Order: sequence, then structure tokens, then C-alpha cells
Amino acid sequence: MENGIKRWHIFRLPGSLVSLKIPVAALLVLFGVIPMILCTQVLIGALRQSQTDARMVEVQNQCQILSSKMTRAGYLRGDARDGTMDSEIQAMADVYNGRIVVVNRDFRIVQDTFHIAERRFLVAEEVVRCFQGESSSKYNKEKHYFAQAVPIYDNTPVKGIEGVLVITASTEGIMTLMDAVYDKVLFMQLLMILILLLAAAAVVNILLRPFRELQKKLNQVAAGALDTDIRTKGYKEIREISHAVGNTISKLREVDQSRQEFVSNVSHELKTPITSIRVLADSLMGMEEVPVQLYREFMEDISDEIDREGKIIDDLLALVKMDKSEAEINLSQVDIVTLVKQILKRLRPIANRRKVELILESIRGVTADVDEMKLSLAISNLVENAIKYNSADGWVRVTVDADHKFFYIKVADSGIGIPEEEQDRIFERFYRVDKARSRQTGGSGLGLAITRRVVLMHKGAIRLSSKEGEGSTFTLRIPLNYIA
Ligand code: ADP
Repeated sequence: MENGIKRWHIFRLPGSLVSLKIPVAALLVLFGVIPMILCTQVLIGALRQSQTDARMVEVQNQCQILSSKMTRAGYLRGDARDGTMDSEIQAMADVYNGRIVVVNRDFRIVQDTFHIAERRFLVAEEVVRCFQGESSSKYNKEKHYFAQAVPIYDNTPVKGIEGVLVITASTEGIMTLMDAVYDKVLFMQLLMILILLLAAAAVVNILLRPFRELQKKLNQVAAGALDTDIRTKGYKEIREISHAVGNTISKLREVDQSRQEFVSNVSHELKTPITSIRVLADSLMGMEEVPVQLYREFMEDISDEIDREGKIIDDLLALVKMDKSEAEINLSQVDIVTLVKQILKRLRPIANRRKVELILESIRGVTADVDEMKLSLAISNLVENAIKYNSADGWVRVTVDADHKFFYIKVADSGIGIPEEEQDRIFERFYRVDKARSRQTGGSGLGLAITRRVVLMHKGAIRLSSKEGEGSTFTLRIPLNYIA
């Protein structure tokens, strides 16, 4: 916060940002627009071809009919020069928008519907071939016309070929028709593409709606509203994603909560001894002519409080150090029974003060590969707890045992016990069953957390069995040889 203005840290995403709209549009073009254009091109081409083919077949049939008529009328021999046949030829040329030329056996043009080549000769390849009995049909794609040659037989029983009917007709009409159809189809196509694009935009919009909704909620979370319900309805995928993110957020929330709790616990724990010291010091200063004995007593209390503060700080530092992933373990061969004996010797004065009996039961001698300092801390915590949460005239029994793989340290007490429902939680940092009693006894609330951490560092296990009012038994099982 600066000048009352909250500064947000905006994290920019790396790389280019491609919207989902782009691949969707690309897919649409790939599978919608391109096939549509190709399809119409192919269809129009096929239609144009079939129209031309049909026209050519039709013209050929008509030519054949005309040729037969000419045969019957003896046209080339001049039997029917009354003009009926000529006008029929002219009519046909007009119908097909073309030109008909009739060539006689001398290759001379006897009839030309354009009236420009009569009496001239036409010795084209098609005509020659036609005289040999081969009809021909040719299409010129570039100039849009076709030419056909049909033989005209004579009407004698011998049926010789006495002439050739050559027709050239334009397909321009078909082309114009096809172009008109193509223009209409193109217009329809453009309309379809436009509709398709609009539909795609709408679809993408609808498809992306749940994502936008999720993003909005995530932004709220990022802005600090960790309680936002980010479950998003919609497709299966988005529901799964929002669930997964939701789970992550609730984990983060838990971490955040436990961090807050931890910080407030730490502050509270650190403040308590300081408050006591302040009260003790203030009351000393408030008194006049204090006897030396009272001074000494007050100073002893102050010293105890300082010790307590120191213990909390030590515990915290120990835990934080061990929580690091690269926490070190200093292994050495340690005589476990001797280690336990030293711990009990150190704690005996406290036990005596509380009238608790300390018993050591060593079933067999054990030497193991352990971190002496850390293990000592772990066992001390268990024995201290067993003394603290005990009743007057109670006992604490520490048993050391081993098999071929593990050694076992059992710390049993005749104390107040731990309710069943709390047993899983007491290993958490600062978790206490009876908060008042724990503080009063000088507990930092970190002892069991440290013990568990140490055991896990040694690849061991810790087990608790307890009954409220009857006592508790903590058992450590640790490998004799450290497993890397
Ligand atoms: P503390 O410093 O409060 O003792 P610990 O982490 O060592 O913290 O223990 C956590 C809590 O577990 C204690 O506050 C206490 O309520 C409970 N507890 C631990 N050991 C025993 C025991 N031997 N008997 C009964 N309760 C116990």
C-alpha cells in the first residue's frame, strides 16, 4: 500500500497469446469454406461439360436426320432444288446458332448457310474422312464451338456417299447460361460464408462463455477473494478444470490459514514470556527497599521466563531448519541406551519436582546410525510431555528394544491421556489438547511436531496409543542403519 493506493502485481503470460477464436476460424475455413468452394467449382464444371455433350449429341442426331432427308430427296443430285430442303438446312443452322455447309463428291460447297463460300472447295481432313465413311465430332474448348461432319448417302441401293454435311455450332449460349448460374452460385456462396462466419462467431462466443466465467472468478480469487466459489457449470472439461483449480485454491486457503494461525501463534507464544518478564520487572521497580531474597526470587522467575522464550525460539528454529527439503542429517553410531539415560538424567529434576517416577527399561543394548542431537531432541520432547501431562505420583517408563532391522523407543506414562479424536492432530504445530495447561507447563506446542519430523528424517515411524484418563504410549520405530 502506498498513499492508500493498493498496488496489484500483474503477472504477464509468456509467449504469444493466440485466442481460441483463431483455430476455430481456421477449422471452419478448412472444413467448411474450402470444401464448399471446391464442390461448386467441380459441380459447375461437370454441369458445363454435360450441357455441351448433350448439345453435341442432339446436333449430331439432327444432322443425321437432315442427312437422311437429303438422301431421300436426292438433294445433291439436284432433284429437290425447290428450296424446301435449303430452308430446312437454314432453319437448323439458325436453331443451333451455327453454320451448315454441304459438300459434294467433288469437295465443292453446294450449300453454305452463311452464303459466302458456295462453289468453293472444302478439302478438310474431316470431310475426306467422312467420305471414307467416318463421321467426326470435334470440340474447341477455347473458342467455344464444335464441328461435326456427317456423310450424306445417295438413294441408290448401293448406298455410296455422295456428300458431306459439315456443321459448326457455337456453345456460347451454354457458356453464358453457365456463367449466369455460376454468378448466382457465387453470390449464394458468399452469403453462406458470411452466415457461416457469423454463426462461428456466435458459436465461439457461446463455447467460450464458461471459460470467461471461470476467468472472472479466478480474477476475483487473484484479487484476494479466496472464498469465491469457482465451480463453473458447462462442459465436462471446464467442470473438471474448475474442480481441480477449486481444490488447489482450497489447499492454498488451508496453507494460508495455517500460516496465519502459525504467525499468530508464534507472536502469541513469544509475547507471553515477555509479558511475564515485564510484570515481574515492573513490580520489582514499584517496590522500595526490596529485600535481597525477594530480588533473587523475582530474578529467578525472570530467568525462567527468558529460558522459556529461548526454548520457543530454539524449537521454532529447529523445526524450520528441519522442514527445509535439503535439511542435513549428521549420522553417527550412537549407543541408544546411553543416550536415553542421559536424557532421563537431565529431566529427572523436573520429574522429581512433579513427583513423577522415571523408569528406564532396556531390553537389549542398541547401537544405531542416527543424528544424535536430533534424536535426543525427539526423545526429550516425548519424555518431557510424559512428565508434564502426568498426575502427581505418576510414572513414566521408557523402554529401549530392537530387532534385526529396527530399534524401538517406547515412552509410556500414567498421565491424563489424549482423547481419541485429538490423537491425529497433536503432531501439528502448536496444536494442544488443553491450551491453558500446555502453556502453564511451559510447552511451546511444537514438541511433537519436532519429534515427528526427526523420526521421518530417520525414515522411521511414530505411533500413539492412548486412553483418556489412563495414560499414553508413544512408540518410535527407527531403522538401525540409515536408509538413504
Ligand atoms: P506442548 O509444548 O504443548 O507439550 P507438544 O507438541 O509436545 O506441545 O504436544 C502437543 C499436545 O499434545 C500437548 O499440548 C498435549 O495436549 C498433548 N500431549 C502430548 N503428549 C502428551 C502426553 N504424554 N499425555 C497427554 N497429552 C499429551
